[in-house]
Amino acid sequence: MNDFTEAFPESLELTDNDTVLQIGWDDGHLSRHQINVLRAECPCASCRGHHPSQSLNLQPEQFTDIKLTDLAPVGRYAYNLVFSDAHSTGIYTLKFLRELPNSA
Ligand SMILES: [Zn+2]
Repeated sequence: MNDFTEAFPESLELTDNDTVLQIGWDDGHLSRHQINVLRAECPCASCRGHHPSQSLNLQPEQFTDIKLTDLAPVGRYAYNLVFSDAHSTGIYTLKFLRELPNSA
């Protein structure tokens, strides 16, 4: 696997009653990520820990009512996702968003 993805998002939208973040990539691929899955997969240090033993091991089932409240580009390589539980430290790289399996 490469450390980067060459594809770039052309569109990002909330679908399915705001429960799914849909990303259309410029190479034609379509990603559909449930918001609660994105929250459980949050890559930030407080969720993941600095070592696997420190991971909170979050599960999507813990976030069934979660919403995405903000999404801001970080340079050209990532997005900062803010959730309705006020968690805002997750920086989701394009590579991560592209390689995360579709959940919706
Ligand atoms: Zn986090």
